Amino acid sequence: GEHIDLAVINRAKDDKVKLVQLQFTDINGSVKAVTIPIEKFPESLEKGLWFDGSSIEGFTRICESDMFLKPDAGTYALLPWETVAVTARLFCDVYMPDGSPFEGDPRYILKRAIKNARDMNFEYNVGPELEFFLFKPKNDGAVAPTPHDVGSYFDFSPRDLAGNVRADIIFTLEKMGINVEMSHHEVAPGQHEIDFKYAEALRTAENALTFKQVVKSIAHKHDLYATFMPKPIFGICGSGMHCHQSLFDIRTNTNIFFDENDTYKLSRNAKHFIAGQLEHVRAMSAILSPTVNSYKRLVPGYEAPVYICWGQKNRSALIRVPRYSPGREQATRAELRCPDPSNNPYLALAVMLEAGLDGIKRKLELPKATEENVYEFNKDELAYRNIATLPGSLGEALHELKQSALMKRALGSHTYQIYLHSKFSEWDEYRIQVTEWEQKKYLETT
Ligand code: ADP
Ligand code: MG
Ligand code: MG
Ligand code: MG
Ligand code: MG
Repeated sequence: GEHIDLAVINRAKDDKVKLVQLQFTDINGSVKAVTIPIEKFPESLEKGLWFDGSSIEGFTRICESDMFLKPDAGTYALLPWETVAVTARLFCDVYMPDGSPFEGDPRYILKRAIKNARDMNFEYNVGPELEFFLFKPKNDGAVAPTPHDVGSYFDFSPRDLAGNVRADIIFTLEKMGINVEMSHHEVAPGQHEIDFKYAEALRTAENALTFKQVVKSIAHKHDLYATFMPKPIFGICGSGMHCHQSLFDIRTNTNIFFDENDTYKLSRNAKHFIAGQLEHVRAMSAILSPTVNSYKRLVPGYEAPVYICWGQKNRSALIRVPRYSPGREQATRAELRCPDPSNNPYLALAVMLEAGLDGIKRKLELPKATEENVYEFNKDELAYRNIATLPGSLGEALHELKQSALMKRALGSHTYQIYLHSKFSEWDEYRIQVTEWEQKKYLETT
């Protein structure tokens, strides 16, 4: 609305902003930005800013390259690490020349899923846990996966050299309006996690995008580099992006996942939602875990999920429902553990939501909880309990995506086609590589 626009213009004035970054993402979740001087900001709010979309991955063809961005005033934040000129950023919607929303805009795809949920009186809340590695660049400045400390999970010893980097990251996140709940050193050397408070899905997707920019920028300031690569080093834990999820009733602002009469304190709709995600997880895997490397994280033995089941105590389960304690009704939630931070958070949350809603609409029945450690099951036990596994590779995940009508609808046919095409070629590029492992294994033995 107009008064929101006016308020944000005044705020930029008070903040002495000189430059404004108008941000959006390509299909891979890379943040793209067009920077404008502050004088052009009011006009961009009113009329949008024209740009050439033809070079953006997943956007459009050269013949229809003119598009425009409209900044969302509610996403205004200063970029504290920009030192040359005071710079603000806003996330934008992408429009076609005729003024209609561009159907390939990941932000639009999430907004459409959110609208579908709101039509059912649901607000989708998500709290992500993002893990990442801090590495030390080599002397020549090249990046290489050398962990820069030797700390381990919850290590507060002086060996946790990253403590002050993490503090700097948290302070910067808070300045940008992101409410950090906790942070700690992770299992692997050089690995860290920072969790922030859950919010409505669009806000959370943008918090995750902001989070990655902050972590990378602050690491750089400390002469380190940060990576969200899902499995940077063989043999140690990878980085996930567990997502805690719930639905609130928009009329009463209460968590509809909670039911005090149920053993698990889960409502019928919560169970249908979880059942929907279990049913569609193989199909949405190529969106949630979108890289070749993602599937090297999703292997047994490193606290990442492999088997498609849910449970309460069980941390090997794909979906965990944290145990209820009195007074925590609003915190009733389902934690989906397969997503990793290499995904596009707009697309990831859109497909997760649509999968859950599909479970609710079809009243899908939730299978029995699995409370044992599934990693210890053998093949017969898995078959007996009817427990399937996540795709073992990006190729397998893409074949699942290709067969899913729900995913096609959730992503829209434009993005669905382009995504499959672009990711299949990524997979093929990888598939024809000859790796060091193969040379070691076969050069002499064949
Ligand atoms: P624990 O009780 O295990 O410490 P937390 O309460 O710290 O877990 O929550 C972990 C994550 O779950 C945080 O990101 C938090 O914001 C999120 N979370 C809490 N309640 C909800 C909810 N109702 N819906 C979605 N996420 C939630
Ligand atoms: Mg955590
Ligand atoms: Mg907590
Ligand atoms: Mg963790
Ligand atoms: Mg977790």
